Amino acid sequence: MQTITETIPLPNSALRESLLHDRFGRVFSYLRIAVNERCNLRCIYCMPPEGVDFQSKKELLTTREINRIVGVASTLGISKIRFTGGEPLLHPHIVSLVGTAVKTPGIESVHLTTNGLLLRETAEALRQAGLHGINISFDTLDNTKFKTITRKEGLPVVLEGLELALMLEFPDVKVNVVAMRGFNDDEITDFVELTREHPLTVRFIELMPFDSHQIWKTGKFYQAEHLISDLTTLYPDLTPVNGSSTEHCVFQHPGYRGKIAVIPAYSRNLCSGCTRVRLTADGYIRNCLYSHREYNLREILRNDGTDREIADLFKTAMWNKLADGWEAQRRGEEHRESMTQIGG
Ligand code: SF4
Repeated sequence: MQTITETIPLPNSALRESLLHDRFGRVFSYLRIAVNERCNLRCIYCMPPEGVDFQSKKELLTTREINRIVGVASTLGISKIRFTGGEPLLHPHIVSLVGTAVKTPGIESVHLTTNGLLLRETAEALRQAGLHGINISFDTLDNTKFKTITRKEGLPVVLEGLELALMLEFPDVKVNVVAMRGFNDDEITDFVELTREHPLTVRFIELMPFDSHQIWKTGKFYQAEHLISDLTTLYPDLTPVNGSSTEHCVFQHPGYRGKIAVIPAYSRNLCSGCTRVRLTADGYIRNCLYSHREYNLREILRNDGTDREIADLFKTAMWNKLADGWEAQRRGEEHRESMTQIGG
């Protein structure tokens, strides 16, 4: 396996060019920022019961550093921010992070992905801070199965959080469901029926191998194409509709208020249109979910680095992005074993 060590320097033209782009002509406008690694669940496709080797507080980016990065990124054509984690609602300043990002010139929308356990307490403040979109991750509507998958109780609390998010009318409410064979493939209908009365999008997401070596190799992978075929068999009247750039196939059932989307997160057949940049909680830029090559932004921030140096590192990182997630995975050894260390 040829591990990537060399960095392709930016040709002068790209250096002058303000937008973030790569050698394949893709332009990046969407920054996903992990604000922490800790989580109040222990999902079997993410981390073991004892957790992972969490970084210490001083290794994680501070609120001030995150705000500065959002400011610089907004000058590079980043217009969409998503806060992730770990569980971002555990972050003590998440509402102010959202508020600052919303007020940053150039940022058009701010989103957050949560497991929903703390949403009842924070939804109102997030709405007032101007949060545009909220994705709530839960993979079953069955209490017992919820405990099996997360190793914790809490489904009723999560569903209350969802109800509150709908009541507060966030412009964009989504439910993220990791689709797994032999676990929730019998709940497709139950999830689709959530879209009958509610203006939300149910997103069925392929399982990914960032599971701390727990279930990836246990036959639970449910490929997007198979899921789409099962979905359209169960609901022959589903109509293709528009969705966001990360959604492969988006459908709506006639007469239903919401949508259903399928995300080929492992099959990776969306890479040609990728718009995403990732920032880990400890301050590394990842130019692809599957890339092992990371760019140390924290070092620049903590050595009196200028905004220009921050911008140049973003540009260098994206200029070095590989054609797709398959090539990124092939070219190196993954050192982050859990999705909570990457930020999703
Ligand atoms: S696998 Fe990498 S290149 Fe492909 S869509 Fe995901 S982040 Fe983008």
